[in-house]
Parts: sequence; structure tokens; C-alpha cells
Amino acid sequence: MEKRYKETGYYNPTYYQIECPKCKHEAKVLSSAEYRNELKTKVECPHCLYRGEYKDHILYKIYVKRNCPDCGKPIFREQKNLTKPSETLRVRCSYCKYETDYKPNVECCHPKANLKGQKGDPFFGYALWLQTEVKGHLFWAYNREHLEEIKAFVKADLRERQSTYLMTMTARLPQFIKEAKNREHILKAIEVLLKKDNK
Ligand SMILES: [Zn+2]
Ligand SMILES: [Zn+2]
Repeated sequence: MEKRYKETGYYNPTYYQIECPKCKHEAKVLSSAEYRNELKTKVECPHCLYRGEYKDHILYKIYVKRNCPDCGKPIFREQKNLTKPSETLRVRCSYCKYETDYKPNVECCHPKANLKGQKGDPFFGYALWLQTEVKGHLFWAYNREHLEEIKAFVKADLRERQSTYLMTMTARLPQFIKEAKNREHILKAIEVLLKKDNK
């Protein structure tokens, strides 16, 4: 059987198969690669029709850290988990009691779902649909295409793995996937995941 690895370039997912945060069925996170704009990334579940947008999941932190303009002592105040960052933040100096509004620094962060040791998508952090354990290691793929790519790599023989393309791809895979002794276990896990995907 021909085991040549098709040269397709780096795998760059435009969607992630995930477990729906509401109904636990398979759902998708769609990243809008065409705009390179992560704020347009959304989650869609075909089972319970849950819809979510990344921009609504972002929480901001604002803070003022400087010296009091009146007495020169350091002042600090922060507010976390804001759905919208405010333009000003009022801070009172604890030394001289001087109080005024400042323009705060804004940091953007968003809460990741609690995954309990699982792998999540890079936007919402929802558990990936295609993941399982292989000999104590977490084995996962972003979506079916990605899983097929890993399968092709694992099936390629050692000589083919020396090609520039596979050598480059190898650098991005966890070590346990590259080890020959794990090959059968990984292929078995891939088949199980492909069946889960076909359901
Ligand atoms: Zn759902
Ligand atoms: Zn002061």
C-alpha cells in the first residue's frame, strides 16, 4: 500500500469541533480567517441551536497605577471582569486623600471554560470533540481534517518522516506521537475518534 504523505502545508484550522457547552453534543467554533479578526469568531451548535460570539465572552480589566499628582505617593486601583471597559477610573489617594478621575490602562482577557485536564479550542476554551487518552498522554485534534493529517504522519514510514516537510511538522507534534513504539496505540485512538466523528 502506498504510504506517501501528501504535502498540504501547515494545518491552519478555520473551525474547531467542540463539545457544546449547553447540550454536550458536537458543535463548532468558526474562526473568521478571512478577516483575521478573532472578535468575529463564533460558536454554533446544530443540536440545541446554541449560538455564542467571542466578542461577548471578553471581560476587561482596567487599572490605574501611578503617583498621586498631589503628594507624589504611589496610588493604585483596579476593576476586573468588566464587559465594557470604562473611560475613566476614580482613585482616592490613601495618603493625602486627593481624589480625581484618571484614564485607566485597559487589559483584555476572557474566561476559559473549566476543562479538567482536557484540551480546548483557542478562543472559548470549550473542550475539543476529538480527544482521548493514549498511554497517559492527551491526544487531540482540532477537527477531522487535522486528525487525518496526524494519521497520515503516524502512518508514514521513518524514511518519509525525514522529508523537510514532515521534519518541520514533526517539530510541532508532541513527542509521544512521534515515538515508533506508540504508533499502534495512536492509530487505534485515531480510529476510535474517527468513528465518534461519523456518528
Ligand atoms: Zn448544543
Ligand atoms: Zn496623595
